[in-house]
Amino acid sequence: MIKVLVVEDEVDVRELLILHLKREGYEVVATEDSEKALLECTHQSFDLFILDWMLPGLSGLDLCKALRTKFNVKAPILMLTARADTMDKVLGLEIGADDYLTKPFEIREFVARVRALLRRNQSQIQDEISSFGVRVNLSSKKVSVDEVEILLTPFEFKLLAALMMKAGTVMERSVLVAAIQGSDVSVVERTIDTLILGLRKKILAKADLIETVRGFGYRFRK
Ligand code: CA
Repeated sequence: MIKVLVVEDEVDVRELLILHLKREGYEVVATEDSEKALLECTHQSFDLFILDWMLPGLSGLDLCKALRTKFNVKAPILMLTARADTMDKVLGLEIGADDYLTKPFEIREFVARVRALLRRNQSQIQDEISSFGVRVNLSSKKVSVDEVEILLTPFEFKLLAALMMKAGTVMERSVLVAAIQGSDVSVVERTIDTLILGLRKKILAKADLIETVRGFGYRFRK
């Protein structure tokens, strides 16, 4: 289900947005200020952000910046502003907003923009990586070798996906550690070698696609 975070301090506007977003079938989390919004972002992820420009405390602009830089948010951000100032729009787009809507706006216009942003984002998400008969689906987590499904552990899956996404590039062990590390597990670089060993056994026929680059790390053949 598509999850949207709405940050708007004006109750009427907030309620209106919630109503229409829910009508579209989205799950909505709404807050009245940036601090609460950031708190929400520490324990869940969103597919779309709708930020009012003028908020008490941290402004919508600063919130947008924080989401992009500190939280590494890739999802689209729609800014709502009461100003029609061109300077502001440029500034907002520069710090990572994807689109703008100037208040007051038609709710139909709002819904259309939301749909467009989500559609654009959806088509950008690469769901499946396939190379030399090895196919990795990032959402279903299914992996197959020459159309035969194989079972990987979560670590092996993340490792293979990370290597394939950067096929042709040597990935150092420290980078691979960062790519597969869960929040509660500490993976040491040596573990990568063990995981690679297990991974090669599972994709046996294609094992040589994962190349060892002595002194550097590993590389998925391109
Ligand atoms: Ca406001």
